[in-house]
Amino acid sequence: MEYIDNYRHKGLRKKLVDSLRAHKLFDEKILKAIADIPRHFFLDPAFADWAYKDIAFPIDAEQTISQPYTVAFQTQLLDVKPKDKILEIGTGSGYQAAVLHYLGAKVYTIERHEKLFHKTTVLLIEIGFEGVRTFLGDGYKGLPRYAPFDKIIVTAGAEEIPSELVKQLRPGGIMVIPQGQGEDKDMVKLTKIDDKNIKREKLGKFRFVPFISGISK
Ligand code: SAH
Repeated sequence: MEYIDNYRHKGLRKKLVDSLRAHKLFDEKILKAIADIPRHFFLDPAFADWAYKDIAFPIDAEQTISQPYTVAFQTQLLDVKPKDKILEIGTGSGYQAAVLHYLGAKVYTIERHEKLFHKTTVLLIEIGFEGVRTFLGDGYKGLPRYAPFDKIIVTAGAEEIPSELVKQLRPGGIMVIPQGQGEDKDMVKLTKIDDKNIKREKLGKFRFVPFISGISK
């Protein structure tokens, strides 16, 4: 497949970035990642223009690509440093993983939907993000083989914080996870001070597709 990023796309993207900048919440590095990565590559070509509205959008397997504001928000909370080893739960379209990779992180990302996993793995290679390591699996289990991680980001809405993921975070590490009982989740930032002390902050309400255990064909 051929991927085209034309002046129209670039113009729409610049407007999106300007609207995100207006919130005065996000580092310029993050805005630059959003300005440089063609988000429309992560959607079906028929919906290219929708890529630059600040909304979530359906992708395959009844899943969604997170809203740009949410991607910027979670990325900001992660405080990404170059070379950070980051685990993402919920690869979805691959866009959030691409943003983290652009910021210089070593990205490991897990998806539970087999079809989505294959499609996104191919896409990331085709558009130059082959450095992102993709895995088919159940995010509840994390990736013990590659632990510990400096940061963990969950991009599906959890009812509880999976203890296995907290285990796979290094002391001093940060986990960002939307968590709560109803449809609206609290954006939770956990800082693992050491194995016994965990700081927990709630930073606003967000809506996500559900975090479901097990793999789906
Ligand atoms: N980060 C994605 C957001 C995708 S939506 C993006 O930028 O597009 C959340 C994704 O989490 C969905 O693709 C869903 O299938 C996946 N998911 C839900 N529960 C999961 C689990 N237990 N393990 C791995 N992925 C999961």
